[in-house]
Amino acid sequence: MSSTPRDLVMNHPISRRDFFDGMALGLVATESPRGTAYPPGPFTVRAGAAGALSVPHALRDGRFWQHAGPPEPTGESYDLAVVGGGASGASAAREWLRRRPHDSVLVLDNHDGISLSRPARFGPQEDGVMCDRETFGSDTLVRLTPGWIARLPLAERARQDLLMLQRDPPDWFPGLSAEEKHERLAGLTYSRFLLEVCGAHPDVERLCRTMSCRAWGYDTRAFGAIDAWGTGFPGFGGLGLDRDKPSRFNSPTVKEGPAEAVPLPLDGRVQLRPSSPVVSVRDGASSATVGYFDGHRVMTVEARAVILACWSAVVPYLVPDLPRDQRRALSLAVRVPLLHATVRVRDPGAWRRVGVRRVRWTGAYWCLSELEPPSEVHLLATPCHSELGPDRGSVAGRQELFRTPFSRLEQTVRDQLGRLLGPGGFDPARDIEAITVDRWGHGRAPEYCRPWHAFYPDGPFPADAARRRFGRIAIAGSDSEPGPGGAVTAAVRAVEELAG
Ligand SMILES: Cc1cc2nc3c(=O)[nH]c(=O)nc-3n(C[C@H](O)[C@H](O)[C@H](O)COP(=O)(O)OP(=O)(O)OC[C@H]3O[C@@H](n4cnc5c(N)ncnc54)[C@H](O)[C@@H]3O)c2cc1C
Repeated sequence: MSSTPRDLVMNHPISRRDFFDGMALGLVATESPRGTAYPPGPFTVRAGAAGALSVPHALRDGRFWQHAGPPEPTGESYDLAVVGGGASGASAAREWLRRRPHDSVLVLDNHDGISLSRPARFGPQEDGVMCDRETFGSDTLVRLTPGWIARLPLAERARQDLLMLQRDPPDWFPGLSAEEKHERLAGLTYSRFLLEVCGAHPDVERLCRTMSCRAWGYDTRAFGAIDAWGTGFPGFGGLGLDRDKPSRFNSPTVKEGPAEAVPLPLDGRVQLRPSSPVVSVRDGASSATVGYFDGHRVMTVEARAVILACWSAVVPYLVPDLPRDQRRALSLAVRVPLLHATVRVRDPGAWRRVGVRRVRWTGAYWCLSELEPPSEVHLLATPCHSELGPDRGSVAGRQELFRTPFSRLEQTVRDQLGRLLGPGGFDPARDIEAITVDRWGHGRAPEYCRPWHAFYPDGPFPADAARRRFGRIAIAGSDSEPGPGGAVTAAVRAVEELAG
């Protein structure tokens, strides 16, 4: 089914919501009359959200203090102030009170409602791949049932190459030891491995490119061949390597398996202060002074100890007194952006009729679409410009993510669901009831991985320098402990450093 923007009936009255890093950019509109521009006028941005987004950016760009008045003390004093109410900040507050039950604890966050909830995870295994027109010129949905490779709309040689890579690839590095093979793989991305080592037909690389997007937030042009081997991607069977014995070059998540960040829950003894982006933290003779923007002024509180559980890249702007090497190390922690849409549909039956539940797309805007019964559809897009690698690609992708109008996101959602489910009777104009978009500019915490981080695994690691304690200030946050479970590990370590 091919849909033009006109067919997609974007003016249809549905619920539309747009979030950036968990903060509402505003209800886009519940209705927009026919013939008016879409969206109908600028976003209406709530004061809390506006401050939350603009304050850190103004700090980064050096504009904030030009316009902010002098800080005003609130007169409050706490035993612990925590900056950032995510998994790590919540864990730090909870762990502190476990050790010091009678202390006073304040958690400040720039969200207008502190929430630990993250969007639903996408399931592990797709049951269909959409060889899409963006990649192959026309759409072909291939269900991943026996014989699926023969049904791929690829050149015959590409299908043969894929079969070979799946079933009986040769030893690409004969005569090398296991360690030497690991080292070779550690120097390549998976895309380069397919094209340059295996000499696979380019269609094979195009077909496989989005395989790493769900778990990593970038495609195989950024995903290391060593981690592709550790994950079980095709092409490595002839190397004679034992996947049960991970390579020292494998990233921590591949070595140890992904861990859910299970935050220690906050309890009623913790004071929460949402919509309060922190703008400065200064260590003093008897306490630290924490400044935050309340929407109008910079207010300050005093604290005997401070845990920074916000994004590491923000910390140098809050604590300019940090040593130069530490500030530089903190700024290297670049999070991978993610984009997630939740779509409420009127009738999910089209999925059953089309015969899929979770589909990977090879090159369209959204790389994954999945039905969550009874009637929610999740779509994932990965804004990272993978061709630039995870770090530079994430910076470029985040800028683009913030600039992309909701109308484009809605149009791509409608277009792709129409193309996928149209043969099952789905009509995007009739069957979509609500679209919520979560733009996670600072999504997945960074992880050290090859071939991008030559210091891995032998160190020294930027995170070692980044998380050094600075007087009464300790640094938590998952960015400071790259790898699975980093948010909670970092919180417990930071508490240990300050509370002993
Ligand atoms: C879509 C998505 C899916 C994910 N899925 C998984 C998963 O399945 N498994 C997994 O392990 N991890 C997942 N993650 C990563 C997950 O976010 C982290 O594991 C964990 O939540 C990070 O916790 P944190 O406390 O370090 O950071 P965050 O949860 O990002 O918390 C940091 C907080 O600091 C706040 N902040 C920043 N600057 C300031 C400031 N100046 N003042 C005040 N507050 C500030 C931020 O708004 C934020 O609330 C996912 C992330 C996203 C976006």
